[in-house]
Amino acid sequence: MNDSDQYDLVIVGGGMVGASLAIALAGRGLRLALVEAFEPSSNSQPNYDDRAIALAYGTRLIFEAIDVWPALASVAEPIDKIHVSDRGHFGATRLSSHDEGMPALGYVLTARELGRVLNAQLRQDRSLDLIAPARVVDFAQKDDGVAVEIERDGLMRSLRCRLLVAADGGSSSIRQKLDVPVQQWQYGQSAVVANITPSHPHQGVAFERFTDAGPVALLPMTEGRCALVWTVADDEVDSVLALDDEAFITAFQTRFGQRLGRFSQVGRRFAHPLSLMRAKQSVSGRVAIIGNAAHTLHPIAGQGFNLGIRDVAALAEVVADAHAGDRDPGSTDTLANYSRWRIGEQRNVALVTDGLVRLFINPLRAVRVGRNLGLVAMECLPWLKHPLARAAMGLTGRQPRLARGVPLD
Ligand SMILES: Cc1cc2nc3c(=O)[nH]c(=O)nc-3n(C[C@H](O)[C@H](O)[C@H](O)COP(=O)(O)OP(=O)(O)OC[C@H]3O[C@@H](n4cnc5c(N)ncnc54)[C@H](O)[C@@H]3O)c2cc1C
Repeated sequence: MNDSDQYDLVIVGGGMVGASLAIALAGRGLRLALVEAFEPSSNSQPNYDDRAIALAYGTRLIFEAIDVWPALASVAEPIDKIHVSDRGHFGATRLSSHDEGMPALGYVLTARELGRVLNAQLRQDRSLDLIAPARVVDFAQKDDGVAVEIERDGLMRSLRCRLLVAADGGSSSIRQKLDVPVQQWQYGQSAVVANITPSHPHQGVAFERFTDAGPVALLPMTEGRCALVWTVADDEVDSVLALDDEAFITAFQTRFGQRLGRFSQVGRRFAHPLSLMRAKQSVSGRVAIIGNAAHTLHPIAGQGFNLGIRDVAALAEVVADAHAGDRDPGSTDTLANYSRWRIGEQRNVALVTDGLVRLFINPLRAVRVGRNLGLVAMECLPWLKHPLARAAMGLTGRQPRLARGVPLD
């Protein structure tokens, strides 16, 4: 094997999470490779589509620390308020950046814009081998490293690394090959997403509305547009997607209500089937599993990538510390530090997201009254609301150095 095929880290998957990890670790003396199945461009990678991604304020801090934020700032719309309500009932609560003393609770941009910026940064970095389009087709763990087989243009190539990072998305073949046990729920629902323009200015407000037929979210975007996430039962998805613009707008208006006036100009609609998956281990031998490969969430709470980038910040920190101390980045000790750090938050965010979705679609009267009282209590009691706002901003729990603006070394 050539020296050029030996790496400290091989990252499988150049989606938002794998790309962010590569950028965070590039340029600090580690030999790094990123293997991505598609040509790295926001027009070829399927997940860099027009879906709106809400970035928590904590994610902005991590992007600032790895120098990605300056290129994102001009395309990201700030979220100043979050309005959570139970449609047709009395309960509602509002979170506000002003009350929290923060410049914003978060930001919204399209996955396509995020992909464009991350890919541009990946291409610039000379200390990183970007191997794409290429697929990891097999790997084998040894005591001192991992042998990784990749296929590119019909040719096979072998790489060797000390740490293999599975950032290969929800149906991760790496996680499956490792036989890592998962907890999984299917919701029998899909998220229909589109951009839409309201007649009233959105004023930086994000709406989360729970309705009897499932949750609806409306996120503020640039140019006065909003991004809608409309949860639809799987057996109704085809008929919703088949609606013409006018019928779609009318149906969505009925579901969302009149808070932002009349809607017009709806963009292309896409449906994403909803499930929740959580890997019960985030480490196996010399492999770390991060992002959607470790946890795929219901998008209504907008937490999937935000949780994934906190995996990135934590893994980057333990790997950089191991490297600085001349220790093996894929050793049991290094990865145990990562696993202990992340497994609790991954479990809690998955459980809370799932619990919220189930709580708000429960039609029982007692549950409905209880959740509305909960929303009212939240609205009246700052000591209840403040922790919720901090959690929505991704600012709770043990914060990695990158999230505190402290460089990795
Ligand atoms: C409708 C919708 C709305 C959402 N809204 C939000 C939101 O508001 N906020 C938020 O935080 N999150 C949101 N999410 C979640 C967010 O999109 C995901 O968490 C995020 O895209 C996961 O990124 P990832 O890099 O882990 O995985 P992926 O994006 O799935 O990337 C995996 C990459 O691995 C590559 N790959 C796979 N196998 C191989 C292989 N064998 N070899 C080489 N490469 C391989 C793939 O080509 C792909 O590029 C939303 C999701 C949906 C569906």
